Parts: sequence; structure tokens; C-alpha cells
Amino acid sequence: MQYIFNFAAIKFILMTLDTQAVNLEKLLERNLKTAIISHFNPDGDAIGSAVGMYAYLRSKGQEPRIVMPSYGPECMDFLDPDKEITYFTRDKETAETVIRGSGLIICLDLNKTARTEQLAGLIAGSDAVKVMIDHHPAPETDGFSIVISDPGASSTCELLYRILMSFRSTGGCPEKLGLRTLTSLATGILTDTNNFNNSLTPYTFTAASEMLRAGVDFDFITNMVFRRYSEDRMRLMGHLLTNSMQIDRSLRASCMVMTLEDRRRFNFRDGDSEGFVNLPLMIGDVEISALFSQTEEFIRVSLRSKGNISVNAMAGRYFNGGGHERAAGGRLYMPVDQVRDYFFQSLEQFLQSSQQL
Ligand code: 5GP
Ligand code: MN
Repeated sequence: MQYIFNFAAIKFILMTLDTQAVNLEKLLERNLKTAIISHFNPDGDAIGSAVGMYAYLRSKGQEPRIVMPSYGPECMDFLDPDKEITYFTRDKETAETVIRGSGLIICLDLNKTARTEQLAGLIAGSDAVKVMIDHHPAPETDGFSIVISDPGASSTCELLYRILMSFRSTGGCPEKLGLRTLTSLATGILTDTNNFNNSLTPYTFTAASEMLRAGVDFDFITNMVFRRYSEDRMRLMGHLLTNSMQIDRSLRASCMVMTLEDRRRFNFRDGDSEGFVNLPLMIGDVEISALFSQTEEFIRVSLRSKGNISVNAMAGRYFNGGGHERAAGGRLYMPVDQVRDYFFQSLEQFLQSSQQL
């Protein structure tokens, strides 16, 4: 894993960010028909940044649309009280019509269009001007007119806040962004930093402080996002920690597997496993944690690291995925009872090849 604390490089990123933000503001002022899109299985950062951008454009008198490849955690519904988001998996026709009819496509919280799954072809085939705003490493930028990518940012929401604040018409005044935009962006910051626990930058707190002063109710968001789970979810967590969590002390790793049977037994609902993968990292000896969730089609992989192991690289090499250095995900196509062995063997091989063992 590489840490880059190269101040010249950071200055360059900010310089290009500012230039790109000027171009973006001019582009948005053209009021092209805008489709805002984020990644499959959208999380708080994906939904927060999409609704944040949506509410911002609405406040400018525009009529943008949001198209998500699939539905996300139910706890995020408070960001979309009037059900303005179109989900491809629920309404393919509308999703396709919106994308085909748009003059501007804004992709948020994704570094390659493949992360939109079935929307990727529509995006590639569209003549619309395309914009990417994201914080994942190594963006694939072909076909995009404007790319604002900062892997140093805690979240796409933090990056988007920074961009919107730099707009001439905002003039550094958060109140001008409106409470809905601010609340949505605050939600993404809160979820991607795991309630201000990881990926923090000095600007994360600057942004949060400005949002708080402008009227964002962080207690409300915390209650909405982290304190509305069901009893079943709590018991599922206990079950997995007691009966599924397996620790390999020599690899300093934890592995949990949630089966379809677990889902049935605990009346699993989308979003219920949110945060589970972080729990084993609370154990002193555990540096890397994996959660494998069996679905009807494949096994969802979630990886977290609290040390120098790049789970982004691991997810790319062994788990058909990617993400960030310390939080990544992917998919496996194998019988669920083979997953544990596959994980520990892959990790051992990975650590040996990176000479970290
Ligand atoms: P989570 O474990 O919360 O599902 O995902 C953690 C991180 O990994 C997120 O930043 C997400 O963008 C990324 N991620 C999750 N699943 C995938 C995947 O299938 N492919 C890629 N490239 N990234 C993923
Ligand atoms: Mn994100």
C-alpha cells in the first residue's frame, strides 16, 4: 500500500480540481437535460451525492433526474421522501428513457461505468456530455468531458461539497446550497467515514462544521442511518459473531460468512449487514476482515483493513472487484462452503507475494 504525502501533488490535484470545478459550473449553467447516476447497490455516499447534486440543480430551477442501477439500503429512503429516484431494477423503461433523453450525464461515486452494471451500455452509447465526480483510485475516464477525482477525499459527498462551495454562485456560503443538498452530502460523509471513524481528512471536519453551522441536523441523520435497525438485525449480528466469525491469528484475519439460511432465519432486509464487516477490526490482533454474503446469484464480498494491507488490490486480484485501500468489495461465484478456505488461501498468497508476511 502506498501513502502519498506529496504536497506538490496535493496542490496539483487541488489546482485541477478548481479548474475543473469552474468548467463544471459553466456546464451546469447550460441547463442540459441532466441524468445523475451512481453505482450498483448504492450506499449512503452514492445516494447522498446523487440527491445532493439533484437538489442543487433543482434549486437552480432545473429538472434533473436520478437513475440508480439498483435499490439501496431502506434507511436511505429519508433522502428521497417523494420517491424521485428511478431504480433500473424496478423500472427499466423509465430508466432507459431518462438516460437516452439526457444531454448531460453525471456519474457520482464510481470510477468506471462498469460499476453501473446494466446501465454501462446505455451510458457508453449516449451522446450526452459526461461528467465523473468520484473518490475511488484509478478512474477510467474515456468518454468523460470532465473528471474530478480525488482518492484523498473521505467520500464523494465531501468532494462534491468542496466543488459546490467553490462555485462562483455559491461564493463559499453553505446556506446558498440549501438544506436538502447539505443534508444529503452530510449523510454520505457520515456513512463513508463510518460515523467519522475512518478516511478522515482535515477538510472532512471543515465541511461537517460548516454544514452544522448552516443548519444540518447531524443527530437526525445519525438516528436515521445508524439507529433504526430491527431486532432481527441485531440478533443476526450476534449470531454471526458467535457462530460464523473465524479468526486466523497468524494471518491476523477474520472471516464471516452469511448464508441464505441465515438470511431466512433472521428475516434479512437490504442494508441489514451494513457495518458487520467492520466489527472484527475491533479485535487487537485482526488487521483484515472479510464478510461473505450468499445471495441467490453469487456471493457478495466485503473487505476491510486497518493496517497496510491493500484490500483494493486484493479485491481486484481474487474477488472480481475493487474499491479503496482499506474498504473494498467484489463477488465470488463458488459454493458457499468453499469460501472460507478460498479467502484464507488467497490472503496467504497475497501476503507472500507482497512480502508482508
Ligand atoms: P462494501 O463492502 O461496503 O460493499 O464496499 C466497500 C467499497 O468497495 C465501496 O467503496 C465500493 O465502492 C467498493 N465495492 C464494493 N463492491 C464492489 C465491486 O463489486 N466492484 C468494485 N470495483 N468495487 C466495489
Ligand atoms: Mn464513496
